[in-house]
Amino acid sequence: MDNHTINTDYFDMHQPNDIDDKHSFRNYTNDSTQSKIKQTYQFARSHQSVEHVLQMHKKYLSFSHRMRIQDVFEKLSTFVDISDPDITLPNYYHGIQTAESIRKDGHPEWLQLIGLIHDIGKIMYLWGCKEDGTSMDTQWGIVGDTFIVGCALPDSLVYPEFNTEHPDKDHPIYSTKQGMYAHQCGLNNVLCSWGHDEYLYQVLKHNQCILPEQALYIVRFHSLYAHHKERAYNHLMGEQDHDYLHWLRIFNRYDLYTKNDDTIIISEETKQYYCKLIDKYLNGGELLF
Ligand code: FE
Ligand code: FE
Repeated sequence: MDNHTINTDYFDMHQPNDIDDKHSFRNYTNDSTQSKIKQTYQFARSHQSVEHVLQMHKKYLSFSHRMRIQDVFEKLSTFVDISDPDITLPNYYHGIQTAESIRKDGHPEWLQLIGLIHDIGKIMYLWGCKEDGTSMDTQWGIVGDTFIVGCALPDSLVYPEFNTEHPDKDHPIYSTKQGMYAHQCGLNNVLCSWGHDEYLYQVLKHNQCILPEQALYIVRFHSLYAHHKERAYNHLMGEQDHDYLHWLRIFNRYDLYTKNDDTIIISEETKQYYCKLIDKYLNGGELLF
């Protein structure tokens, strides 16, 4: 099924088949994980202003690193997302787990591929730095839920108490609900806090990868929980956002519910299968990052 204009019944019939209901996800209250995660969110909230995000665009969107996807995964094998309470395995396994569940449920191959690669924007840690929160140890500029800058922060963000530390909180325009945006301008026209979502979106655009718009949308907004889970940005959503929200939600269920720390053995057949998808959709498997 490769047609991506599908009516919404499709999604009701295609929820992940093996959701682990007993396991709770996105639980930020566990003591041992809490302090590092909380600190990551606090730093993101207190640093990611409009000005900062624009600076990150300027700095990180130079596309001067040519890398094979295979090598990106290799380099990511030592990167563990410190904002994620649900998994401690390297990211490659999370990508495979997500992709394999999507594939098992018969979704289109482009969605499987997005399952595999949606987090590879984290590779910016290789040329990142502590000051930007883009290093292995300091990750507030790479991971965690994102939020829209240039308008008021919703109370539905994780750790809403940190909203008061946002640098634009007293700005005459950026602190208002509508902020610097026109009513229902569409989320592709807003500025999100800097992280692996926006970075990979820009990489895929720059490399002119032949992926449906929905695929790019998922990459760009999969960490914007305030949008796809809390619906806090209805006033900024355009017509397209209402259509694409379904894709984001279906994707999120796989991103979230396939997480576990079981070591998985990846067969040669599986590797070959994804190599072909990477070849087909990602310019022969090599991109400028
Ligand atoms: Fe992610
Ligand atoms: Fe993910």
